[in-house]
Amino acid sequence: MTDRFVSVVIVGARGRMGKTLLRAVLDSDDMTLAGAVDRTESPGMGEDAARLCGMPDSGVFLTDELRPPRGSIVVDFSLPGATDLNIARCVELGVPLVLGTTGITPETRELLKRAGKEIPIVSAANFSVGITLLTQFAAMAARALGPEFDTEIFELHHRHKRDAPSGTALRIGKAIAQATERNFEDVAVRARNTTETQRTAAEIGISALRGGDSAGEHTILFLGEGERLEFSHRATDRGIFARGALRAARWLVGRPAGLYDMADVLGLPRRA
Ligand code: NAD
Repeated sequence: MTDRFVSVVIVGARGRMGKTLLRAVLDSDDMTLAGAVDRTESPGMGEDAARLCGMPDSGVFLTDELRPPRGSIVVDFSLPGATDLNIARCVELGVPLVLGTTGITPETRELLKRAGKEIPIVSAANFSVGITLLTQFAAMAARALGPEFDTEIFELHHRHKRDAPSGTALRIGKAIAQATERNFEDVAVRARNTTETQRTAAEIGISALRGGDSAGEHTILFLGEGERLEFSHRATDRGIFARGALRAARWLVGRPAGLYDMADVLGLPRRA
């Protein structure tokens, strides 16, 4: 192993994202797998982690304890119950963290902020490069277009998704509201079913469709008099989240302590 290799420990290795990450790391020519962690009750403990994703043996075994070696980077896509301990372990060992787990509590968010003073962390609820750009474009457009343009967000996901609207649609809505100095909760209209209420100018409408196997589509429409602007992103594979997370891991090498997001990784301004 040489210095040009980024050494990665994957937490949640048996999960859908964990396996996608494992495959991406084992397939890459600039990364090396330094560890694979899942919870104690998970099948396959002690077995070669590469078997989880059908790859040739790696010499790294699935374990239930996060012990990242010095110089490695932890990539955590597990579940919110695991996050606090994983953050504490990374701080204790001085190891950078890429955190993709969603649904974390406000207390964990506070813990992340404190940890960001000691180690470099990239935390994002959506590691897709395309969605990161889409969110920035939408905020920028909303500010430039002004209140004459009505804003509507539309999203479509596979039939198994439980939450609607998607967290990503809500985050895009929040970014637009923030860019135009509106309070998102005051102006968000999540579903319409009326015979007499017209939309207000300030409204940000959000519509969710469910069905089939779509990995996720998001469109933001700015509807004006005589013109309409649309920004769309279509995901066809969850590999986009893994690629984004590993891009963040590479970016973290040698970075000072701080709590970063995907916009930082892409070199975008915090406020587009
Ligand atoms: P999943 O349920 O398939 O996998 C989660 C894995 O974490 C399981 O293998 C589980 O056993 C493991 N786990 C649970 N508790 C653990 C613990 N204490 N220690 C170690 N491992 C533990 O879920 P998934 O679809 O792979 O998603 C994982 C997380 O990533 C979710 O929070 C999901 O919302 C999030 N996610 C984020 C992005 C993003 O871009 N940020 C994209 C996709 C999914």
